[in-house]
Amino acid sequence: MEESFGNTRALKIEDYDNYQLVNTQHGKIYVQAVVVATNTPFNDKVVIHTKQAAYRTYVIGVRIPKESMPAILMWDNGNPYFYIRLELTDPKRDHDILIVGGRDHKVGQDSHPEHRYDEIEQWVRERFPMAQSVEYRWSGEIMERVDGPAFLGRNPLDSDNVYVITGDSGNGMTHCTLGGMIVTDLLLGRPNPWTSMYDPARKVIHGFTEFVTEQANTLSQYSDWVEGGEVGSISHIGKGEGAIVQDGAGLP
Ligand SMILES: Cc1cc2nc3c(=O)[nH]c(=O)nc-3n(C[C@H](O)[C@H](O)[C@H](O)COP(=O)(O)OP(=O)(O)OC[C@H]3O[C@@H](n4cnc5c(N)ncnc54)[C@H](O)[C@@H]3O)c2cc1C
Repeated sequence: MEESFGNTRALKIEDYDNYQLVNTQHGKIYVQAVVVATNTPFNDKVVIHTKQAAYRTYVIGVRIPKESMPAILMWDNGNPYFYIRLELTDPKRDHDILIVGGRDHKVGQDSHPEHRYDEIEQWVRERFPMAQSVEYRWSGEIMERVDGPAFLGRNPLDSDNVYVITGDSGNGMTHCTLGGMIVTDLLLGRPNPWTSMYDPARKVIHGFTEFVTEQANTLSQYSDWVEGGEVGSISHIGKGEGAIVQDGAGLP
């Protein structure tokens, strides 16, 4: 029987004969195949996470007078880098929104990132004199894989009917489209010329040095799992802050 399960959190995916059993907050679903497209796959505990790293990027939306800039898609590839977009609002309104992002950092490696919004704003004001008030600020996570293409296809070390779409970097629009095409073909047993290039099980050859560096960097931030947490108890966590407190012994 077909049923819709929108707005439902999947908690666990497990083999059930030739099916996959998806345990959700609203009950169990038995399916012939699962495609995990959750930005980074929540079902995969190891393989994919050794091949990509999560970075947080920061964005502001600044009001500018209408027609003061052409509709652009632009990057500053310096270090740090910035990306720029223009949101054209309703023609009846007197302003558009200049969207500028950047100042990325590895997830979990900056406890006080608020200054990053100010740095983006300063960068904007130095280059765009028409910039007015900052209307929006937000941040999101981007999955940076170590060797180039995204991971679109069968989940490594899993059953053949479990697929992932991840490792988009900043090209989610392209990769999600490609991912839909590749996974559809895999499901239907149709040949697809891109399958091997985007295979999540591919060996990391190009970018091997970056791979080792990323993993060493990522693992170092979890040292408190074996060393006893960042703070001794919850009472040591300041207002508006977060920290890892070890509850019990050993690895989670
Ligand atoms: C600031 C910023 C700017 C970007 N700019 C660009 C750009 O200009 N061009 C571009 O191509 N890409 C851009 N990207 C990247 C792009 O947005 C992402 O790669 C893309 O949105 C990823 O799509 P997705 O569907 O895989 O994941 P998401 O859009 O993250 O969607 C995943 C969905 O899965 C749901 N989910 C998660 N866990 C579960 C669970 N356990 N059960 C059920 N549902 C779950 C989430 O609620 C969410 O709805 C940008 C990203 C950021 C953060």
